[in-house]
Amino acid sequence: MQALMQDRPLTLPHIFHRAERQFHDKRIVTTTLRGEVESTYGEWASRVRRLATVLDELGVPEGARVATFGWNTQRHLELYFGVPCTGRVLHTLNIRLFAEQVAYIAEHAADDVVFVDRSLLPVLWPVADQLTTVRYFVVLDDGADSEIPDDPRIRDYEDLLAAAEPFRGRFEIADENAAAAMCYTSGTTGQPKGVVYSHRSTVLHSLVSLTVDAVGLSERDVMLPVVPMFHVNAWGLPYSAVFAGTSIVFPGPAMQPEALVSMLERHRVTTTAGVPTIWMGMLPLLGEHDLSSLRVVVGGGAAIPTALSEGWREAIGIPITQAWGMTETSPLASVASPRSHHEGLDAEALIEVRSTQGQAAPLVELRIVDMDTGQEQPWDGATPGELQAAGPWIASSYYGDEGQDAFTSDGWLRTGDVATMDEHGFVRLVDRTKDLVKSGGEWISSVELENHIMAHENVAEAAVIAKSDPKWTERPVACVVAEPGSGLTSEQVLDHLRARVAKWWLPDEVWFVDELPKTSTGKFSKKTLRERLLD
Ligand code: ADP
Repeated sequence: MQALMQDRPLTLPHIFHRAERQFHDKRIVTTTLRGEVESTYGEWASRVRRLATVLDELGVPEGARVATFGWNTQRHLELYFGVPCTGRVLHTLNIRLFAEQVAYIAEHAADDVVFVDRSLLPVLWPVADQLTTVRYFVVLDDGADSEIPDDPRIRDYEDLLAAAEPFRGRFEIADENAAAAMCYTSGTTGQPKGVVYSHRSTVLHSLVSLTVDAVGLSERDVMLPVVPMFHVNAWGLPYSAVFAGTSIVFPGPAMQPEALVSMLERHRVTTTAGVPTIWMGMLPLLGEHDLSSLRVVVGGGAAIPTALSEGWREAIGIPITQAWGMTETSPLASVASPRSHHEGLDAEALIEVRSTQGQAAPLVELRIVDMDTGQEQPWDGATPGELQAAGPWIASSYYGDEGQDAFTSDGWLRTGDVATMDEHGFVRLVDRTKDLVKSGGEWISSVELENHIMAHENVAEAAVIAKSDPKWTERPVACVVAEPGSGLTSEQVLDHLRARVAKWWLPDEVWFVDELPKTSTGKFSKKTLRERLLD
């Protein structure tokens, strides 16, 4: 028997029109180089309608990739909707990659037009001629004084919008499985690979992110996405926020800890999200600000050190809520908020729960699999296996031919992460497969070692890498940034670890470095560390 429900496609126009009708008076604030700009969903929506006409007038075909090269701003949010709601595909380019890598990605995706913030034009323009498929560079003037080249491909965003009639009527996307957006993995292993999101996957992902055990955004929230809009669509939060009618504060290029804390305080932000390095930078400043409005601080993209989460909890009363995901998982796959069976646990045990990567979000399935035999592993909180994921917003393959070995024959994504799962499905990431230290046939978790080292009061940052060893295959080496003036010694680091890990886990050496290299998305770059230190 067939059901008798209306068959309506799950598409981004629904989110757009709902916000336009219901939330037109809600605020959108953007920090620009000219100061803060206040706007509303109503103004944003009318600009999205003009943008729709602009894309037609530029002759951008249906399904063509429209790239962005920009900060977190309202204009970026206009592109987030104007592009997919008119049947084109939003392609967010990572502004922190080397220009050559950006060129590779833009060529691979065959981008038709690039919308670029004026302050970022000097990064992109030197490779403009390598972007052979790009017909126009539309400049979003953010008040930077960077020179605008005299070139027939250059257009000005505000001029185009001002001259365009707003599109009238409803945006329609008939096929919910049509591509809405694409994003490339940051290529920490091999070349970057393209992940293509559909309207359906984006709508479902946004909806589940709104559930209370996930991020739980509501109309009453004020959200500040620190995570960049080029990093897996700022973890989908802009789409969720518009779905819920949440007020949004965009930091623009003001990504310094002082500026971010001040925005959180002044705008009474309730929800924010970013990678741990951002929260580390802000930790020393927390005591000087009234952050009592904050309800949830989401951290992900890399393991959240316990000391960091606890530091936030001690300073402002709420810990960092850890989420796990990747470009291929849209990215929300699991969230670590304590459940009712954790009630009554003592403080130490609760810290343990919060240091996991959490339980799979609704509609996401996770399993752990023995890397040699392919056997599914038990959920006993101890047996590790490769973490694999399935669900309606998990990639089924990459754009192009690359990397198809990341998918199993039964259609699951192989994440390249190694994890244990407990009886309730709480995931604990042991390591990435390529970062595990294989010592004498056993594994040492670099993540766990780092977590302990970073809990030392005189340690600012730490990363553990494997050094090849003739006897044990590999041995761990700790790379540590000491707090300035602390006089921290290797022996102190090792003593601290001795009390916490098995003897054979102790790093063979502790190397002090001035800073740890970061990836384009702000994570510790172990690849660069290995290249720098092991040669
Ligand atoms: P890249 O692979 O280039 O870093 P992604 O941003 O897609 O690009 O990163 C996904 C990876 O980040 C995951 O496979 C995992 O290793 C790591 N990661 C994400 N969230 C967490 C987390 N909460 N704890 C530990 N690692 C995480």
